[in-house]
Amino acid sequence: MSENTTDSNSPKNFIAAIIEKDNETGKYDGRVATRFPPEPNGYLHIGHAKSICLNFGLAKDFGGTCNLRFDDTNPAKEEVEYVESIQEDVRWLGFDWEDRLHYSSDYFDDLYALAVQLIKNGKAYVDSLSAEETREYRGTLTEPGKDSPYRSRSVEENLTIFEGMKNGEFADGEHLLRAKIDMASPNMIMRDPALYRIRKVDHHRTGDKWCIYPMYDFTHCLSDSLEKITHSVCTLEFENNRPLYDWVLENLGVYRPQQIEFARLNLTYTVMSKRRLIQLVEDNQVSGWDDPRMPTISGMRRRGYSPAAIRNFCERIGVAKATNMVDFALLEFSVREDLNETSSRYMGVVNPLKVVIENYPEDKVEEFEFLNNPGNPDAGSRMVPFSKVLYIEREDYMEDAPKKFFRLSVGREVRLRYGYYITCTEAIKDENGEVVELRCTYDPATIGGWSKDGRKVKGTIHWVSVAHAKEVEVRLYEHLFTKENPMDNKDGSDFKDHINPDSLKVLPKCYVEPFLGKVEPGFRCQFERVGYFCVDKDSTAEKPVFNRTATLRDTWKRITKNQK
Ligand code: ATP
Ligand code: MG
Repeated sequence: MSENTTDSNSPKNFIAAIIEKDNETGKYDGRVATRFPPEPNGYLHIGHAKSICLNFGLAKDFGGTCNLRFDDTNPAKEEVEYVESIQEDVRWLGFDWEDRLHYSSDYFDDLYALAVQLIKNGKAYVDSLSAEETREYRGTLTEPGKDSPYRSRSVEENLTIFEGMKNGEFADGEHLLRAKIDMASPNMIMRDPALYRIRKVDHHRTGDKWCIYPMYDFTHCLSDSLEKITHSVCTLEFENNRPLYDWVLENLGVYRPQQIEFARLNLTYTVMSKRRLIQLVEDNQVSGWDDPRMPTISGMRRRGYSPAAIRNFCERIGVAKATNMVDFALLEFSVREDLNETSSRYMGVVNPLKVVIENYPEDKVEEFEFLNNPGNPDAGSRMVPFSKVLYIEREDYMEDAPKKFFRLSVGREVRLRYGYYITCTEAIKDENGEVVELRCTYDPATIGGWSKDGRKVKGTIHWVSVAHAKEVEVRLYEHLFTKENPMDNKDGSDFKDHINPDSLKVLPKCYVEPFLGKVEPGFRCQFERVGYFCVDKDSTAEKPVFNRTATLRDTWKRITKNQK
């Protein structure tokens, strides 16, 4: 059974409700065919993940199919790199289009023929106004537009010029094929929208075969129609395009899918549109599309988010008609929830402070058994070496510690995870007064972390043996933007004015237990008490690199609790 299926019989969202109804009335003979239609002009982001989960999810829930279709009608901005990354990301998210991989460019011949048919039906004409005149003739939201003098061209003349356009006889912008609808329509989109334009550029799939390219509104509905899509799900900004979607299909008398709009995902502290993300990449504000701070699927993968966490998040936010802003903390909540269940616990020290256990033999090494995941017995265990000199977390020592500080301070005792009780006897400082080393003693009778005399300590801290530890680099991430909605420009600011200068912090000298020195990029784990981490692709055997995926602290629960 699909994890998306709810136990109750009520539909999961308003689109599922529409499909159920269509299935009842037999509108599409019970068939459900959706598609995910990205334009290959950038990498996919978490907003696309919502659309992917929705489209593939509906197909799965209703026993239908979902196509992957590249909406590649704008040759100037599209690249093969994007086509490949998009496929990788959709697959990684856990979805399969099987043999249904399509490109709008595969339909260029069909689309051309359909445009000719529209001209023959008297429903399209070649306009030859300049760009400026076209704008002028278009009218405004409050004033109707006016008919172009070329609107009354004969069918024959239109056919001749359109063919000439195809054959490269004209320059870019010289002519435009437009639908003949209504220049006075209150819906600006219906004022004789452009269907085909001259664009003398090579296309990444069709090469130099075409020098005219179909516009989105003409291509999209017809691609849906040719693929026999039933429910064409898109985001709300296309609501005003729906009449045009229907007009094209109706006036060509072809198979008609129905367009349904839903609210796009907006997330706090980030921007989502590819147009903006590409600027961050090109300006080197980030290391690339897969920078772990990016809201891209590849960035999130590199950061350590799992496909399940992203799918659960998409499920959690639901599908609605009203635009809203989702708190980034909710995404992190889904990430933590997943990692808490699936990741093993290891010891890593990100802010090291040396501890010398004075009464522990110089060359002795013991191995302690650690459960990989105390909440999951199936996760097994491993042996961790212990010796006289350790690293602990600097924050686990405090000079003037308040009573409730249950970690180290001179004279205080603490439990080393699965190890011994140690008591701090002295803090050694450098000439600046900074603590550089702790001297401690251990109690041999507390092996395994329990005292035989029933003496209790409240604090347990993590540690690594200096002689066995692997030095690693740790990268900590914060939000990419300091402003909750960087796109809000009411104050006259640009989204780039709000880039967080502290969104990446590199800690070059951290120490992890031996096992973590040998793991491969993509490996996810928890550093006990510190956070969730994932091995970065920049990792080498000499210098492993760990990205912090998320902190352990859950801000989402705190936010929702405060709201109650
Ligand atoms: P962008 O503005 O980021 O370029 P787009 O809508 O132009 O987004 P497309 O490649 O055209 O990107 O989108 C493919 C599909 O993903 C479309 O159906 C679109 O509606 C959907 N989509 C894009 N952004 C979001 C979002 N933030 N939330 C939900 N769906 C989205
Ligand atoms: Mg787009």
